[in-house]
Amino acid sequence: RTLEETLLESIRTIPDYPKPGVLFRDITTLLGNARAFRRAIDELVHPYAGNKIDKIAGIEARGFILGGAMAHQLSSGFVPIRKKGKLPHETVRVAYSLEYGLDEMEMHVDAVAPGEKVILVDDLIATGGTAEAACRLLHQIGADIVAACFVIDLPDLGGRARLEAMGVDVRTLIS
Ligand code: 5GP
Repeated sequence: RTLEETLLESIRTIPDYPKPGVLFRDITTLLGNARAFRRAIDELVHPYAGNKIDKIAGIEARGFILGGAMAHQLSSGFVPIRKKGKLPHETVRVAYSLEYGLDEMEMHVDAVAPGEKVILVDDLIATGGTAEAACRLLHQIGADIVAACFVIDLPDLGGRARLEAMGVDVRTLIS
């Protein structure tokens, strides 16, 4: 089995979730499959083995699961990027647009020191709006973003191009 086959077979597609017309890619089945989970994490960290990566920054909530495993494998720290109002200490905050209206995400102001090497991770990139906001937060506090990594790319929605336009290197495992 190739990596791509293993990952594709372990992801479940749910029609009309969270609303009619949307095909939701459910990665809980990938996480619950020991072999698929390990292969996904191995592949995500593979290019950075032997590099010093200071922090893995995970986007709430599925980015926490992937990012925690990556941080362990790379002996890096882990930093949560959260929806507003969830972090207890002083934060930096950015607004970003959703399909309807605006939302905000936050990170602790001291979570990454200026110049530290950071890898951003989430399960999926669609329009790239969420990841772009996360990159703006990381840039705001002076992080050196080594790459933004995703298990799934929905290439028709243009997220990769959006991050690349801000100078961020994008890695995805399957489309
Ligand atoms: P974007 O901001 O790139 O349009 O949307 C990506 C964000 O929405 C990510 O945080 C991702 O977890 C979530 N997301 C959007 N569509 C899906 C989907 O089909 N499956 C999963 N697992 N997450 C999705």
